[in-house]
Amino acid sequence: MATKSKRSASKTKNESTAEADGLLMAEEPEVKIEELPGVGPATAEKLREAGFDDLLAIAVMSPSELAEQAELGEAVAGKIIAGAKTMANIGGFVSGSALLDRRREVLKLSAKVQSIDDLLGGGFETQALVEVYGAFGSGKTQIGHQLAVNCTLPMSEGGLDGDIFYIDTEDTFRPERITQMARGLGLDPDAVLSRIHVARAYNSAHQILLVDEIKRLSRGMNVKLIIVDSLTSHFRAEYVGRGMLAERQQKLNRHLKELKQTADVNNAIVLVTNQVHSKPDAMWGDPTKPVGGHVLAHASTFRLYLRKAKGGRRIARLVDSPNLPDGECIYQVTEEGLRD
Ligand code: ADP
Ligand code: MG
Repeated sequence: MATKSKRSASKTKNESTAEADGLLMAEEPEVKIEELPGVGPATAEKLREAGFDDLLAIAVMSPSELAEQAELGEAVAGKIIAGAKTMANIGGFVSGSALLDRRREVLKLSAKVQSIDDLLGGGFETQALVEVYGAFGSGKTQIGHQLAVNCTLPMSEGGLDGDIFYIDTEDTFRPERITQMARGLGLDPDAVLSRIHVARAYNSAHQILLVDEIKRLSRGMNVKLIIVDSLTSHFRAEYVGRGMLAERQQKLNRHLKELKQTADVNNAIVLVTNQVHSKPDAMWGDPTKPVGGHVLAHASTFRLYLRKAKGGRRIARLVDSPNLPDGECIYQVTEEGLRD
């Protein structure tokens, strides 16, 4: 049995070949986090409680992040990370620096709408967290559905030939809509639906737990897109009033980091949807701004603001991109899906 870290490390490159060849590190010992330097039973428990039960998950962290998330000293965290990088390397399979190399492996998922792809410099990037925000009915869920369908396309057609996880917090995922969009691209709806794994999240704690479930299930899958629709609705409903603001932001921050980390390990995209403030509000602020505050603004690599325009058209505005100019594009939502 291969270690967890070996499996998750292997899957982005060679897993299918390795599995076909029966070479999945069958003789390698299982490396537990307790074997890392500086990790005794108490520290191991802290790491596990914070979701770090996997060498790779630790190896990709920075000391300050690991210290914060697992409630450790920064020096200790640094030592543990250094150990994880070395030990994840046993067998010459993957190292922390190989993970850094993955930045060079960024892929792009096409919206199959030229104007949107142009706005994004070619499509939605893997290893990035994309936030789609806008008012009720602005088309956030439509984007989620369309990208889920597109993700199953082969690379040659702008897809990522990948599996999709969809966390649905508002009960708005509709297989019927996927079917329409799949037909719109000439795809077999059942084949598309079989690659989209949907879970309904009943509250924010459940939503957070579902990310652990994604981490567990994604080993051995080719996960390329993780959607959380909506990221903020449960948090917004549950943490009401100024007194809960700090706790809400901490939880949201942790959740976003877990999502981003899962995206990095899988070379996948995380797409989250977010509302705008419906009215001026002391806690949530400006009615034209996305909710989630600085935590979400900071975590998002790309932010898309959606709004309706005349004649059933939609406008997407790219906001605060690290490497692309701000700009807008126009598209439509049709029965077959998003179109120019
Ligand atoms: P949000 O998630 O931002 O609240 P949605 O993504 O659910 O909004 O967008 C809903 C809108 O999408 C509808 O008002 C409608 O304009 C459009 N829409 C949904 N389904 C279809 C369809 N089958 N054909 C055409 N347009 C659709
Ligand atoms: Mg929606």
